[in-house]
Amino acid sequence: MHVPLVDLRAQLASIAPEIAGCWEGTLERGDFILGGAVAAFEREFAAYCGVGHAVGVDSGTSALELALRAVGVGPGDEVITAANTFIATAFAISHCGATPVLVDVEPDTLNMDPALVEAAVTPRTRAILPVHLYGQPADMDALAAVAGAHGLAIVEDACQAHGARHRGRRTGGLGHAAAFSFYPGKNLGAYGDAGAVVTDDAEVAAALRKLRNYGQERKHHHEHVGFNRRLDTLQAAVLSVKLRHLDAWNAGRRRVAARYGEVLGDAAVGLPSARDGLEHVWHLYVIRLDDRDGLASALAEDGIATGIHYPVPIHLQPAYAELGAGPGSFPVTEAAAGRILSLPVYAELTDATVEEIGARVAAFAGRREVRPEPAAP
Ligand SMILES: *Cc1c(COP(=O)(O)O)cnc(C)c1O
Repeated sequence: MHVPLVDLRAQLASIAPEIAGCWEGTLERGDFILGGAVAAFEREFAAYCGVGHAVGVDSGTSALELALRAVGVGPGDEVITAANTFIATAFAISHCGATPVLVDVEPDTLNMDPALVEAAVTPRTRAILPVHLYGQPADMDALAAVAGAHGLAIVEDACQAHGARHRGRRTGGLGHAAAFSFYPGKNLGAYGDAGAVVTDDAEVAAALRKLRNYGQERKHHHEHVGFNRRLDTLQAAVLSVKLRHLDAWNAGRRRVAARYGEVLGDAAVGLPSARDGLEHVWHLYVIRLDDRDGLASALAEDGIATGIHYPVPIHLQPAYAELGAGPGSFPVTEAAAGRILSLPVYAELTDATVEEIGARVAAFAGRREVRPEPAAP
């Protein structure tokens, strides 16, 4: 077998003529910086997310940092985020001159635990940065209650959750602003680095447009020290093509996840949770078992790729030694880090392949113990 974690070549095969067309169109127009395709994609993506504005930037990391800056996060502030996330979530906070304040996650979803957020609020807290991890929205109702009580902004890290819904509403419209990554392997991916911030707030959107483009609204008139963090026109053209397929691809991921759920139903592994009222888009399909490394090696021998998202929590990274949070600080995150394994998930994965992968996982892990029926009274 040869099964990658995500198969971009299989995806391209289904859209190659559309991609070639949009690429050629941009080359002919030659508007490579903030060209027509950027504005077009921004309109389409904002509409898709159900918000008023989208601002294209050069990566998800930039999207996070600029979104935080645009809602007013700066030096001396604290931003509360989840301990179990990709390092860029914390880096974005640090790049604003602010301090990441980590909280542990819920044992089932591995998303930020709202019950712990309240206790983490201090007079310096400026914002909450929940991560919709693996494609499942965080508990936004509970987080909105904490944010409302303390006058905090909510910036969503939606880098893994394009198209996911929370009680019917899409990610991107669940806070004051939201950051998306279009890294190639994401549910909506460019052919290089790319990202966007979406928001319903016109002032935040205007601030973002300046921040990403040298702090200027008018050419050569720089109101503040800005950045060059623009979305490439070529990538925007690709993203417009791919956005048309996103819902179908997410449906394909849901099919794969459902199939895994069936074939792994009685295997001795922990299956990922999908909560009621949330529409999970399965950026990653993450199972849990004690001999995670053994299973990863066995699958690798069979030609099946796996990943770990993430093996070393933020607070145990050398980059964040300064937080002073040693082992034991975030028990749910730390326990998960040693047991999680991401299986291949993408729309082009056939049921037959999913069943084959599932059978190998089950053969390695064994069957769950069948408890004897309680005796009739
Ligand atoms: C991918 C990702 C990012 C960073 O996005 P880049 O486009 O790679 O900069 C941030 N947060 C999370 C949760 C991600 O998955």
